[in-house]
Amino acid sequence: MDNGSWHLPTSNHFDCLELRSLVLNIQIHPRDKISWDTTQSNATGISTIWNSIRTIGTPPAWVDVVWHNLSIPKCAFTFWLAIKGRLLTRDRMHKFNMNTELRCILCNIDNESHRHIFVSCPYIMHIMANSSFTFSEDWSHYKNGEFLVGPVTGIRKQMGHLYAAITFFLVWKERNARLHNATNQPASMTLTLVKRMFREKLHSCHRFQREVLKNHDLLLDLY
Ligand SMILES: [Zn+2]
Repeated sequence: MDNGSWHLPTSNHFDCLELRSLVLNIQIHPRDKISWDTTQSNATGISTIWNSIRTIGTPPAWVDVVWHNLSIPKCAFTFWLAIKGRLLTRDRMHKFNMNTELRCILCNIDNESHRHIFVSCPYIMHIMANSSFTFSEDWSHYKNGEFLVGPVTGIRKQMGHLYAAITFFLVWKERNARLHNATNQPASMTLTLVKRMFREKLHSCHRFQREVLKNHDLLLDLY
């Protein structure tokens, strides 16, 4: 409203045309004001409007697995892309008609796919097997966020998710390094780096420090 008359956007968008046809018939009285009808307070912000018009669906199963208060952003991002099957693995490169080898550069045994490189490749299996957590070897369990085997609860659940995310990140980094820089870091070295990053993250986390005071066995998960 402007000076007691309607001041509407000139857009030809269907919604704006409809808004104009509805609003222009409404006479403005001196005490009228515009407010967002789903809010109780006078302070209407963009977030309030967005929350009132958006559709809130059920979050995908991987959300809590990838983004939690122990996650490391760069690892979580690679982990997320891997779970969604969006990394440019050699099988996908082939589908995009890119001229590439299909063989896994980490083991040279099987063809490279998300399932192979993150579940069944001997390279990652060595790292996953040398932790205090038991990880599923079924790729579909990663997609539905239930890849930790056995009764794992509380902070240990997030620690297991963190360990998997760091492993995915460093294995994918090594895969890229081999592809582009012709390096050859053995799985034992990557395992050392995974455990170091895992410890550094947890030692800097106040929540972990509080939990350790209640349960000293958590320290066994670090080595
Ligand atoms: Zn492999």
